[in-house]
Amino acid sequence: MKIQKFGGTSVGSPARMKDVCRIITAEKGNIVVLSAMSGTTNSLVEISSYFEKGNPEAANIIINQLRNKYVTYIPELYNSGEVRQRIADFLDDRFTLLHAMSSEEYTEQMGKQILAQGEIISTNMLTAYLKEQGVKVKLLSALDFMRLGENGEPNQAYIRRELTRILEEHAGYDLYITQGFIARNAHDEVDNLQRGGSDYTACLIGAALKADEIQIWTDIDGMHNNDPRFVEGTEAVHQLSFEEAAELAYFGAKILHPTCIQPARYANVPVRILNTMDPSAEGTIVDNRLVPGVIKAVAAKDNITVIKIVSSRMLLAAGFLHMIFEIFEKHQTSIDMITTSEVGVSLTIDNTTRLQAILDDLKQYGTVVVEKDMCIICVVGDLRYENRGLESLITQALSGIPLRMISFGGSDHNISFLVRESDKREALQALSNHLFKH
Ligand code: ASP
Ligand code: MG
Repeated sequence: MKIQKFGGTSVGSPARMKDVCRIITAEKGNIVVLSAMSGTTNSLVEISSYFEKGNPEAANIIINQLRNKYVTYIPELYNSGEVRQRIADFLDDRFTLLHAMSSEEYTEQMGKQILAQGEIISTNMLTAYLKEQGVKVKLLSALDFMRLGENGEPNQAYIRRELTRILEEHAGYDLYITQGFIARNAHDEVDNLQRGGSDYTACLIGAALKADEIQIWTDIDGMHNNDPRFVEGTEAVHQLSFEEAAELAYFGAKILHPTCIQPARYANVPVRILNTMDPSAEGTIVDNRLVPGVIKAVAAKDNITVIKIVSSRMLLAAGFLHMIFEIFEKHQTSIDMITTSEVGVSLTIDNTTRLQAILDDLKQYGTVVVEKDMCIICVVGDLRYENRGLESLITQALSGIPLRMISFGGSDHNISFLVRESDKREALQALSNHLFKH
């Protein structure tokens, strides 16, 4: 069995939905996870924020725009008058529910209910289409089995147990469809896996059922070896290890949600990234294989702030780093990159909401200097230290770029550089030219 997840653009219009149906009916017995149609979750976020700000008029305008958009899809998707009517009634229900919130007081729970509608609508519409086409399909509500624990993390034991039970109860269908992104929390309320969380849903389901493969269908032919928005001639990488893919996802490759890879990795279920617009393209497979001595890809992360703390007190002092880290912990700010010398430490953060408070606290321990608008360039591949020459090949490529920090040896598959954001494009291009032009 495979898990096939389709993102918002893949179900972004009736024509795209029909493409998806061609792909998912090619095999039997798979589970399909859908996102909301593209743009929908953003509109729902806007609706929720107007309700929160006490402006139901503005919320109702957006609700109506969204409703009108969906209503135009009905004749494009369904043939029979009866199905058209049923979907019109279904949409009426969903949008009436949203309008009705005008008269309620805003709560966080209401916001989550609003956000859940996108996936509920896309899955119902696609299922109705498939049924009309004669496919034996069953829609499973993710709210019946996707569950978060008290800590807000997915409760994997619950998910495995309930999903297995539900599938046994509904055995014999050719296809199962469910919603990405949405879940119930430990208090049984509607919740979600954070923006972009449909990938995570697919990976959690794939891991729970020990699927043969998790497929993430998107609108590009796999993970590329560099950022196609900034570099020319990037190519899809055909295979990545789970570790390499996780680093790339975290450091900017927007295709996979960073947290989603872990469950697949632990369950050892391969994740394949495929292109809805070009289904026969090979894409990228992420699995447990490590290709020795090969640099696979480059990614970049913007909006990085570097903080340098220099102190002669650090010299030979035990516990200096501990004191520094405690300050970041106190301010709930995570550190991405760190380099040290005997008398100083430089570290980077991307969340600057608590920057001033952090700086105030750090000043007890040394001289503090801040630089903003920096960028982490991350090179991923088999970078075990026993391999000779790879680090020098990479630094050679960057010989024209001022390098603020270099971090190597933190893991076996990554070397990271901190550069000015203004040097990013040149750095990425230089790496592509040196590492991937054969
Ligand atoms: N619809 C949700 C979002 O836009 C989840 C997803 O698409 O992965 O964030
Ligand atoms: Mg996405």
